[in-house]
Amino acid sequence: MKPKLTRILERLPRPHHVSVRTRLAMIAVALIVFGVALGGLEKPMPGLGASYDAVMELDLPGRQQAPSLFEPGDSPDGFPEDIWHRVQVKSGQSLDAIFRAEGFSPATLHEILSLNEDTRSLKRIRPGDEFAFMAKPDGSLERMRYTIDDERYLVVDNQSGTPNAWIQAREITREMVETEGTIESSLFLAGKSAGLSDAMVMKLANVFGWDIDFVLDIRAGDRFFMVYEKIYRDGEYLRDGEVLAATFINQGERFQAIRYDAGSGAQYYAPDGRHMRKAFLRAPLNFSYISSNFNPKRFHPILKRVKAHNGIDYRAPTGTPVYAAGDGKVIESAKNQYNGNYVFIQHANSIVTKYLHFSRRAVKKGQRVRQGQVIGYVGATGLAQGPHLHYEFVVRGKHRNPRTVALPAVEPLEESALTQFEAHASLYLAQLNRLESASLYASTE
Ligand SMILES: [Zn+2]
Repeated sequence: MKPKLTRILERLPRPHHVSVRTRLAMIAVALIVFGVALGGLEKPMPGLGASYDAVMELDLPGRQQAPSLFEPGDSPDGFPEDIWHRVQVKSGQSLDAIFRAEGFSPATLHEILSLNEDTRSLKRIRPGDEFAFMAKPDGSLERMRYTIDDERYLVVDNQSGTPNAWIQAREITREMVETEGTIESSLFLAGKSAGLSDAMVMKLANVFGWDIDFVLDIRAGDRFFMVYEKIYRDGEYLRDGEVLAATFINQGERFQAIRYDAGSGAQYYAPDGRHMRKAFLRAPLNFSYISSNFNPKRFHPILKRVKAHNGIDYRAPTGTPVYAAGDGKVIESAKNQYNGNYVFIQHANSIVTKYLHFSRRAVKKGQRVRQGQVIGYVGATGLAQGPHLHYEFVVRGKHRNPRTVALPAVEPLEESALTQFEAHASLYLAQLNRLESASLYASTE
């Protein structure tokens, strides 16, 4: 089935970065898109009312009152780009050297650097940093612009001969994009047909990486529905943002996650407010190394199982990064003729995880590790027929199946945060469920 891309303008995450004009333009585009969609439909589509509501729900008055970071009289369009002389910092180059090369006076630079905290930071520029300059007719500095990050400039005006500096926000707009995919051979291929970059596919997989083993559990027919952000700067596509909400249906089991910031940074939560994050990762290795090279005819990359085999084998190319499945302490990092290069990690609750046959180890005995930290790389050292990770999960000295063993849960959201989360989540869940039912409708047509 063909994945469908629908675009809906987002409710504002950063009001001061979004110009009113751009917002109105994007609403116009959104309405045109929906107009076309409605006009082109022969029969009503379930859930379409919901998508229409999502557009109508835009909070325009609030947006128009959003505070502006622009200095009075300083429009981001004030100067055409080609007026600026752009300079990229080379290795070992100081701003002083750049000023000399541009023919500006060291005294002006000194004045600029002593203006405030922001300009003082220009003493620590790095190779690749970007400056842009404008010179007066006499060759002295008129204006200077330093690119702080994707979204901000530090501007210094020296028209009067007395420098003045401010931070100028660039015009950033966020577009909410919906997409969906069905896995036929690999998640990456499904992602590609859904218009997702490999990086975005990884972000999607990472959201569900505690519940789904993306190496061993993915099957043809698995599906995903997601809402994510695309970020535009000065009207041009800049990069993909984050996954805002997603559904993943794995072997008939449905997982849903919503991105939410309960005050200590955004994380992913299940609809009931429980963390998606758990004490242990399902597959303790970077699955993109496997899935991106895998042969669809051999969908299941597991090696032939040996009797009384105490672990799970992940066949993967040599060099695939292997992660600590959970936080803990390295109790063994060594090499022998059976295990090859191996690492054992002690976790809370008398749990030990073991990782065998590394080509190279990346941690030392006694070292503390965090979940997701690279502890070694897949190899075929010791008794191994080919490159693979042999992974064991041991609870109080007994080998367990990490997929079925009961594990301590991470604390859910507190009562007060939960109410707010549910309000936030309900919009996204409605959106995801609409996508899913529309897709079901389309596939039964
Ligand atoms: Zn094994």
